[in-house]
Amino acid sequence: MATIIDGKAFAAGLREDIARKVNIIKTEHNLTPGLAVVLVGEDPASQVYVRSKGKQTVEAGMNSFEYKLDADTSEADLLSLIDELNGRDDVHGILVQLPLPKHINEEAVINSVAVEKDVDGFHLSNVGKLSTGAEGIVPCTPLGCIMMLRDHLGDMSGMNAVVVGRSNIVGKPMAALLLAESCTVTITHSRTRDLPAVCREADIVVAAVGRPEMVTGDWIKPGATVIDVGINRIEKDDGTTKLVGDVEFESAEKVAGAITPVPGGVGPMTIACLLYNTLQQACRLNGISVPD
Ligand code: NAP
Repeated sequence: MATIIDGKAFAAGLREDIARKVNIIKTEHNLTPGLAVVLVGEDPASQVYVRSKGKQTVEAGMNSFEYKLDADTSEADLLSLIDELNGRDDVHGILVQLPLPKHINEEAVINSVAVEKDVDGFHLSNVGKLSTGAEGIVPCTPLGCIMMLRDHLGDMSGMNAVVVGRSNIVGKPMAALLLAESCTVTITHSRTRDLPAVCREADIVVAAVGRPEMVTGDWIKPGATVIDVGINRIEKDDGTTKLVGDVEFESAEKVAGAITPVPGGVGPMTIACLLYNTLQQACRLNGISVPD
């Protein structure tokens, strides 16, 4: 049976470390990192995310600024709020919760956030830095995945890594991070031929597809490490719902060497990495090093 990679515990440790460092910069530099989160509309899942982001930001000793805008807010009004936040000294990170309503151009909004306050790593400049190996801000979910992989595997050089999914927020940055670890990386997607056979070659499989339990145990090479990014709510036979990943946990854990569960795997790492990125940006903006 596979080792379970406990993302919940890992994230709790990371948040504790961040809180300790925040305390040091408060004492030594009189600096309190501030994260502004902007939510447009009333998407229930986004509301839940924004609430937990705010709560965990405050628990880490940082300032949390929340902006809840109506679903019919114009793109111009949203851009003007971001402009104001870009100019504020007490805001070091700005996150615009996605998805945005259809009438707003997501790309324009993402790139209007000052690059030095981008904590999502979605700004084109940070995307470019990641793909060229320069130091920048890395998207939170793939950053959480690579932290857990480094912790579990150590040196990954020469390993075959297969990323299932090629989205800008997970698949592509994940592949860039694995490449930076000197893995041999294959990025797969909905047009990939014989995906199970491609996955069976992998020492590391990262599934970010959005299809409940698509990756089954017979796709996994014995002993491989499996990172399940998927979060899917499915209905059970009794009419209640439950969260499952993109990997069929029951069959995969019998073959894999290690696996992240859903919930309790990648999910908790995402917000912890958002706090991590906010701390990095607060220190960079003020010209100080992140404490050890
Ligand atoms: P996305 O933008 O919808 O991308 C899904 C990717 O999967 C696409 O590249 C798509 O290929 C590929 N795909 C779809 N069906 C496939 C199939 N049958 N075979 C192979 N590839 C297939 O999704 P995303 O934003 O990356 O998110 C993926 C999953 O991660 C979702 O369940 C999401 O909820 C979850 N997620 C979790 C977190 C977290 O904090 N844990 C954060 C972000 C996302 P094409 O490009 O060819 O269409």
